[in-house]
Amino acid sequence: MSNRPMLEIVALEKRFGSTQVLRDIHLKVPQGELVFVIGPSGSGKSTMLRCCNRLEEPSGGDILIDGRNIMAGTTRDLNRMRLQVGMVFQGFHLYPHMTVLRNITLAQRKALKRSDEEAKARAMDMLEQVGLAHKAEAYPGELSGGQQQRVAIARALALDPKVMLFDEPTSALDPELVGSVLTVMKGLKAKGMTMLVVSHEMGFARETADRVIFMDGGVVVEEGTPDEIFGAPKVERTRAFLSRVA
Ligand code: ADP
Ligand code: MG
Repeated sequence: MSNRPMLEIVALEKRFGSTQVLRDIHLKVPQGELVFVIGPSGSGKSTMLRCCNRLEEPSGGDILIDGRNIMAGTTRDLNRMRLQVGMVFQGFHLYPHMTVLRNITLAQRKALKRSDEEAKARAMDMLEQVGLAHKAEAYPGELSGGQQQRVAIARALALDPKVMLFDEPTSALDPELVGSVLTVMKGLKAKGMTMLVVSHEMGFARETADRVIFMDGGVVVEEGTPDEIFGAPKVERTRAFLSRVA
């Protein structure tokens, strides 16, 4: 594992009108590391993730993906770099009228101009990785929430991202389906994917995260290893938050 930052956030600021939502955020995710983000609702976690591929336009600061600044360059550069940042949300956003396979080949053909054959081969590899190769011809409505989320992960992976961002990927799932998605995410980490994960699954963080970030009020309040943050938080606000969610 190299120390090269795959994702770097530098002095990120975000305002909505006169409301400052993110303030001077600095964050580095080295290649192959998993950084886990916790914090109360409204603390800016989703906004920070969305700024990482300019789904949300930062008000200031820089975002570097594998050393390249996505705030600089042409629209065409931006579109290319966007593909390198895979995103998985709470909702799965699959097209209901398309098969699982087509859901995964569509963006590959449109955005990466892959041939149908190439896109299908890549999709099947990714479905294999998330344990759903046998569901390639199913429609999203025929799958459980956990399976749909694994398809959404496969779809993001099929675009060969350099970084994967997860925004509460298991929050909409019935408890018994959460494990299958976390298992897939652990597998991804084991394969060396660089990941930034917002989630409430503290057990997963303890097991898998290299670092944990605690955000509150649009700033990073504290950061450390899982042992440091969960075992001996230094800042009172972190302690108070953890005692509420534990
Ligand atoms: P989290 O994901 O930690 O719950 P968010 O990033 O969703 O927090 O929101 C951070 C703050 O930004 C909240 O106060 C929220 O109301 C505000 N916010 C988010 N999106 C918008 C928007 N499009 N317009 C105005 N305010 C927003
Ligand atoms: Mg959120």
